[in-house]
Amino acid sequence: MKNKFWEGYVRPGRVFGNLYFVGTVPASSHLIDTGDGLILLDAGFPEAIDGLLENIRFLGFDPMDIRIILLSHGHYDHAGAAAELSRLTGAEICLGEGDLKMVTGEEDSSLAELFDVKYTQFFTPHRRLSDGDRVTLGNTDILCVSTPGHTEGTMSFFFDVTDGSARYRAGMFGGAGTNTLTGEFLSARALPSSVRDKFLASISRLREEKAEVFLGNHVGNNDTVGKLARVEGGEADAFVAPDEWYAFLDEREARMNEIIKKEKTMNALETILNEKAIMIVRGVSADKIVELAEAMWRGGIRVMECTYDASGKTPDEETARVIGTLVKHFGDRMLIGAGTVLKKSQVELTAAAGGAFIISPDTNVEIIDETKRLGLVSIPGAMTPSEAVTAHNAGADFVKLFPIGQLGAGYLKALCAPLSHIRFLAVGGVRPENLAEYLASGACGIGMGLNANDKAAIDRGDFDHIENTCRAISSQLK
Ligand SMILES: [Zn+2]
Repeated sequence: MKNKFWEGYVRPGRVFGNLYFVGTVPASSHLIDTGDGLILLDAGFPEAIDGLLENIRFLGFDPMDIRIILLSHGHYDHAGAAAELSRLTGAEICLGEGDLKMVTGEEDSSLAELFDVKYTQFFTPHRRLSDGDRVTLGNTDILCVSTPGHTEGTMSFFFDVTDGSARYRAGMFGGAGTNTLTGEFLSARALPSSVRDKFLASISRLREEKAEVFLGNHVGNNDTVGKLARVEGGEADAFVAPDEWYAFLDEREARMNEIIKKEKTMNALETILNEKAIMIVRGVSADKIVELAEAMWRGGIRVMECTYDASGKTPDEETARVIGTLVKHFGDRMLIGAGTVLKKSQVELTAAAGGAFIISPDTNVEIIDETKRLGLVSIPGAMTPSEAVTAHNAGADFVKLFPIGQLGAGYLKALCAPLSHIRFLAVGGVRPENLAEYLASGACGIGMGLNANDKAAIDRGDFDHIENTCRAISSQLK
């Protein structure tokens, strides 16, 4: 049996005053009685058209009185039925300019394939909406706000609804789904990640509007079904919930940020796994750091750790500033993180500076928790099996076996045998001559600092020396 995505009956009913719900569980449709004809807000699936017409009649209206079909965006589940409904009723279809190609068939982006169907009822909207446009009919004047993100042409709607002398502002976020903003979706369709920035900007824009009657374009957005039942039960203002609008926007913003955060962590994790080498930079003055890091990059290094100063001589804020400078300078070219992290406040400073990972000499569950909470890669230090397992169980992405120079490759190998599920990095005493041995003994990467010769080279401004040091390391890893 094939799944019928458009099925899911909702008993039609009044939302408030002259506004009604006539849609289904998978796609909301709303009807506005303007006193001079009807406005249909989203048309739904073409497969559900009979049910929609039935719902409109059930409420005592004649579908032939629909004058305007106003679409939140061009996806199949919202716009699919528009062409046929317009043909039946003569209604004017309005759609955001940016979704035009989605409904004319010029571009295969309506997502019909997600519902196992082929989009055949293409159409050209009678009116293309832009930001600030108004759609007016009878007693109703709808403000259209361009809110791209979910799709380029997504429009959100705000209008007054009335019941006798009671009047409220109704509002709908026309495309609140983050399903079209995941890394997977964007890369499959070669879309730029900037659409996420647009989505977040749209949310900020929507916070400027109030929506006392908060409408969803999917029933889950605002518990449509539960509220319809409450209205039915005599609670006329069940949909009047001004705070829910802002709470919904907050929730969608958090959802978007969570996706971005998770992906950033995944990318950082993959980079460390692929590159295998983390260069540790300790005590380099801020004025030489970019030049030094560029030399490392030329030498093939792609992951760099800036350490906090446990003695406190260099203030944490100064170290975080250096991290921030490097993050801004390199963008995606180099992964920057923090080392010698012993305090929660250092995790927070690093995250705020845009750092990607947190390395500590010890296993401190509090630090690991904070690191994961902020979406960074966690690399605590450990020496014993108990510490390694504690770190791993607390959520560490890697465990830094430290100090490996004293413990030896044999110790690493013995530890990896029972703890093969833990990703170890060998740190502390790794040199170009012995790093291959650590990798052969089970480490998935190494961390290395600069030696006295390198430090002297930095002091005299000989960055070619640093480049050569780094090349000696990176060439062994490729
Ligand atoms: Zn959609």
